[in-house]
Amino acid sequence: MRYPWPDGKQSAAVLSFDFDAESGFLFREPEKAKRSLADLEERRFGPRVGVDRILRLLDRLRLRASFYIPGWTVENHLPQCKRIRDAGHEIGAHGNVHEAVAALDQAQEKAVLAEQLRILADHLGVRPAGYRSPSWDVNVWTPGLLKTHGFRYDSSLMGNDVPYDVATPEGPLTEIPVQWIMDDAPLFRHVYGATNAIADPGRVLQMWSKEFVAMHGENGCFVLTCHPFISGRASRVALIEDLVGYMRRQRGVWFATCEEVARWHDEHGRSGAPTARRRKRAGR
Ligand SMILES: [Zn+2]
Repeated sequence: MRYPWPDGKQSAAVLSFDFDAESGFLFREPEKAKRSLADLEERRFGPRVGVDRILRLLDRLRLRASFYIPGWTVENHLPQCKRIRDAGHEIGAHGNVHEAVAALDQAQEKAVLAEQLRILADHLGVRPAGYRSPSWDVNVWTPGLLKTHGFRYDSSLMGNDVPYDVATPEGPLTEIPVQWIMDDAPLFRHVYGATNAIADPGRVLQMWSKEFVAMHGENGCFVLTCHPFISGRASRVALIEDLVGYMRRQRGVWFATCEEVARWHDEHGRSGAPTARRRKRAGR
């Protein structure tokens, strides 16, 4: 069954950016983070250079994107977060100190959720519609916690390639699915001892273009996930620009934020209601 996109569109495309900065490193390796300036500076490239380079790119492309920001990043890189907000992009929650929720019990995860919402509200005046779990780590109880904390959607799971519902005791939670193929980290991030080398941006452009065009044919929802400290590098910003140019040459792509896609799913997609154009055609 085809997913009913608005105005007879064939697919949806979202650019999303997880603005982690130093947060994930501080959570995972707190002792090393006290002394390793090298690791900290690698991540500080995001707030220092990457974010503004990406904001300029989005401005050139005239696209709104979805940014997921941990509470720690909001408190420590507030001017950049305000520039993201003031440029009209969506801001979603992304942990407090990028906690791997597998390490948290339900009560701890609840406290972390409440804390990140308080930080987003206090510093940015933002009540996020969406949540993306740090490292796409989700516990079985997480979707229910998101519902009770008033989130419209989650974007951390891989169980479909169109928006879908995750069952919770509080009713269905809208999921805007992600996937590893469309994440910059496994392709571009240098990790000592890892088997994957840093990828050639030309190869990644080809890979993401192929994935996009195949998903477009399959009526899918293409969600690209990039990190300012990784994809804020010059050749990778150029790659995203080339990719969007390629996507724009296809007919019927709905460029949207995750929040817009989730709203569409809640109001029309879930029920499979036909869009205006399809209704007209059906009536003929
Ligand atoms: Zn992250």
